[in-house]
Amino acid sequence: MIESLARLLALQDRDQKLRNLRLEMEELPNARAAQESQLAASAARLEASKSRLRAIEVERKTLQTEASAKRATIERYKAQQLQTRKNEEYSALAHEIAVGEKAVSDLEDRELELMEEAEALAPSLQAAESEYAADKVRIEKALRVLDAQGPNIEELIRDLEAARSEAAQGIDESLLATYERIFQNKAGSAIVLMENEVCFGCHMKVTSQTALEVRAEKHIVHCPSCGRILRLPD
Ligand SMILES: [Zn+2]
Repeated sequence: MIESLARLLALQDRDQKLRNLRLEMEELPNARAAQESQLAASAARLEASKSRLRAIEVERKTLQTEASAKRATIERYKAQQLQTRKNEEYSALAHEIAVGEKAVSDLEDRELELMEEAEALAPSLQAAESEYAADKVRIEKALRVLDAQGPNIEELIRDLEAARSEAAQGIDESLLATYERIFQNKAGSAIVLMENEVCFGCHMKVTSQTALEVRAEKHIVHCPSCGRILRLPD
């Protein structure tokens, strides 16, 4: 392999590692946000279970208050009934008492329904609670790992940046600029293998002339299709 290509290849190795680390670094906030939104969704599921049970409790209290007010009214009618001597008034009160008793019974039925609903919801609340507890432990651990990754990646990047500039030394300036441009444009693959006269960057067959030039190893050869620098297998 010609020396300038060997140098470029060593540089590309560092550049690719750097590129991956920088991508990982960029992904960290997204990864963090994804974990946080999972935890929020789990908390929302728990909250939904709890809020239905709270609504049931509120409705039960209202029903109980209504029922005791009705019972008090019924008691009052009954007392009036004992005191009246008029048949008409007596039967009017008897009718009111019957209406009131029916209303109390309806309220009690509705309360019973609510109690049954609350009982049926209990297992799903319990499930949501334990699911949330497990999610919280798992996600908080994942967040701690992500938080620790940042400084580690930064340190690796600093080390690699030093190694990178070392590797860039001694490479012809214009060749270096060409390589850097291709590396940028081709998502981190500037130098690729040519095997069976096919460029491994774009998977196009190169011309026989290009293949000959690559095999001759006299100068840097670019793929005619994608412009990447071609090299032979080791
Ligand atoms: Zn190509």
